[in-house]
Amino acid sequence: MLTLKQEKKRFREFLEALSDSYELIAPVKRELVKFDAIKNINDIHFEKNSYFPVKEFFFKKREVLFTFNGNRILEPKFENKERVFFGIRKCDLNAIKHQDIVFMQGANDPYYIAERERSFLLGYHCNEAPSEYCFCGSLELEDYFDMMFYDKGDHMLVEIGSEKGMALYKKFSGFFEKSTRLIAQHEKKIPGADRLKVKDIGPLYDNPDWKKGVDICLSCGACTALCPTCYCFDIHDEVKMSNPGSGERVREWSSCQLPEFSRVAGNHVFRNEREQRFKHRIYHQLDYFKEKYGIQMCVGCGRCIEGCPTRIDFVQIINEMKEGEKR
Ligand code: SF4
Ligand code: SF4
Repeated sequence: MLTLKQEKKRFREFLEALSDSYELIAPVKRELVKFDAIKNINDIHFEKNSYFPVKEFFFKKREVLFTFNGNRILEPKFENKERVFFGIRKCDLNAIKHQDIVFMQGANDPYYIAERERSFLLGYHCNEAPSEYCFCGSLELEDYFDMMFYDKGDHMLVEIGSEKGMALYKKFSGFFEKSTRLIAQHEKKIPGADRLKVKDIGPLYDNPDWKKGVDICLSCGACTALCPTCYCFDIHDEVKMSNPGSGERVREWSSCQLPEFSRVAGNHVFRNEREQRFKHRIYHQLDYFKEKYGIQMCVGCGRCIEGCPTRIDFVQIINEMKEGEKR
């Protein structure tokens, strides 16, 4: 992998040059930290990871799939203006990888693909865990970026991870120096982020300790909305009252934590019990997705714990389970 070096002054100038040429999107601190368009690079927030995941820029909260009027269907025009994301952490880069598996390799979803293709992903390495809830180090995360920036105090080391990253580097090569120094694997590890001690939760499904979470879960769905990998959605038609033959077909985020999500015709709800829904989320993240795609879906960002109104820490619950114990 090509490694580059950048003095801090040049790094700043590079960000300014990027924002002159592209829409630059990076974490900013408002009430909470979130990804947003950058007008002034002094607004970029480096300390904490974004409270909200970057997924809403690719898999949108609300997407109009097409509009209709009688038999006429009008598909939306896709935006193709290139944009650059800076400051995506390793967990969220891997979350994008997992959504790429679902929406690009699995479903070939044109809405998602259009947003991904026009985006450059520039990562920012965590020198330490940015939150007490992080556990990315317990999962098998990979390098998945166009460029990755490692803050080394007075300079940045930068890795190029894709053809898109190489094209961007070539365009802005004056801001970088070549480096012979490679980033060692131990430098890519994030200290203090390996608190999930159990790798295989399959045998724990009937453990009575799940109750610690189930009993205080409100089925609110905040965990899935904040999760960078969750991809459940609902599709419905919104018609105009003045002309019921016309309207929009809309895709919106949904959540496996809501009973409505598995309600079918005849009013049967497949996961009516809160316990079924609670365990489904954790097992999809750590078990079912791996069974299907060979990789755990969860990337250990900890957002679902930090943002849960009753602070259910499923990592702690799992760590404290005594193997073999059943109801
Ligand atoms: S955020 Fe917490 S309370 Fe709400 S559904 Fe998720 S686990 Fe349950
Ligand atoms: S399940 Fe929780 S910790 Fe895992 S990726 Fe989703 S929000 Fe992050």
